[in-house]
Parts: sequence; structure tokens; C-alpha cells
Amino acid sequence: MSLVQKSQHFLDYLEDFVANLPTLTLDEVITRPEHTAVVSVDVINGFLYEGPLASPRVAPIGESIAQLMRSAWSRGVRDILLLQDAHDTDSLEFEAYGEHVIKGTHQAEAVDEIKSLPFYDQLTTIYKDSIHPAINTDFVDWLNEREVLDTFIVVGDVTDLCVYHLATYLKFHANAYHTPRRVIVPENCVQTWDLPVDVAADLPAMPHHGDLLHATFLYHMALNAVEVVKAIQAE
Ligand SMILES: [Zn+2]
Repeated sequence: MSLVQKSQHFLDYLEDFVANLPTLTLDEVITRPEHTAVVSVDVINGFLYEGPLASPRVAPIGESIAQLMRSAWSRGVRDILLLQDAHDTDSLEFEAYGEHVIKGTHQAEAVDEIKSLPFYDQLTTIYKDSIHPAINTDFVDWLNEREVLDTFIVVGDVTDLCVYHLATYLKFHANAYHTPRRVIVPENCVQTWDLPVDVAADLPAMPHHGDLLHATFLYHMALNAVEVVKAIQAE
């Protein structure tokens, strides 16, 4: 029996899981704005619009995320954090993903949807040199300085790398320190790239099934008690 045959029932389950994700309202998420944060990862030109790792599947989340940030800000949320890739030219991560998002380039800047927010200059940006948000970054200090936060809305790209590590890190950190914490991932604000097997055969890159990996990692976040929802609606 092939893996495809053995996994058919689970894939059917996975498809239903994504299709039937619940929707939350902002009122249900932001009950106390001073206890709520929006953490956005890698919503930068180098993953949405330009360069070797940009994906047309990922680009539309820029506007959805900016809209969510506007709504959260208007309800009093002031902890909006931008976690962003910014590599030196000799970054060791290029062994896995090739050269991308060099410090100081346009690729490394937040997308215009975010930069044009009227409160953009009041957002915090933390840079990272790996997939992980908390290894050799200022993220742990940022978190520890904000013990009041107990609700985190996680958005960005890509679902199966930085979003997954960010959301599960926040959950595992909370579990390890016995700190009750909601971590919410709205599906309309996360996405991943697609690289078909036949296209990848001609490239120095591994194939990547966007739909399957997006669904699988949404499931895996939910498995770890992250609240994966379809969207967080204003009403
Ligand atoms: Zn990178």
C-alpha cells in the first residue's frame, strides 16, 4: 500500500479541517487590548514581491495583515511587533535556501501595506538571521518585558517555517513557564510558497507543495493548541 493510499483518509480529514476552520471576531480576541499583541513575521518585500523566495501565493496576505493591524490598533492594541529576516552576505541559512533578503536591501524592508500604516513608526522591528524567532534575537527580551501579554495573534509567512516556529515557540514557552496564553493564527493572514516537483527538478531547490504543507502545518499548530481560525473579522 502506497503512502498516498495509506494517507487518503487523513488527507480528507485535513481538507475538511482547513475548509471548516472557525472565524473569530475582534471582540472575541481583543477583550483587553493591553494584554494583546500582534506578531508579524517576514512580511517583507523579499517574500511577497521580489527576489528568489518571493511568492505570488504569499503576496495577498500583506493587505489582510495591514487591515488586521489597523483594526487592532483602532481597538487599542499597541504591541505590534515585526519580526524580519535580515541576512549578512555570508549567512549560513543560504546553505538551505540560497541567497535572499540581505540587510539594508529593498527585499529586507516591510511591504508598503505595512509601511504606509499611519502608526508604522510606533511599531517595533526585531531582526533575525535564521528561521527561528528566538535564537540570537531580541525577541525573548521583548517577550519578557511584556509579561502582561496573554494573547498573541501570529501572522506572516511562511506557514510551515517561520509562522510555525513562532506560534509553537510562543505556546511551548507558555507551557514551560506555566503561563496561560492564547496564540491565534488567522489562516487568511498566513501562507506558503509552491514549487512543483517537475519545476524543482531543473533548479537547485527542493520541491514544495504549497497547499499540502500549508494545510499540514496549520493542523500541526492546532495539534499544539494554537487556535487556528479562518480569519479574525472586524464584526
Ligand atoms: Zn532567511
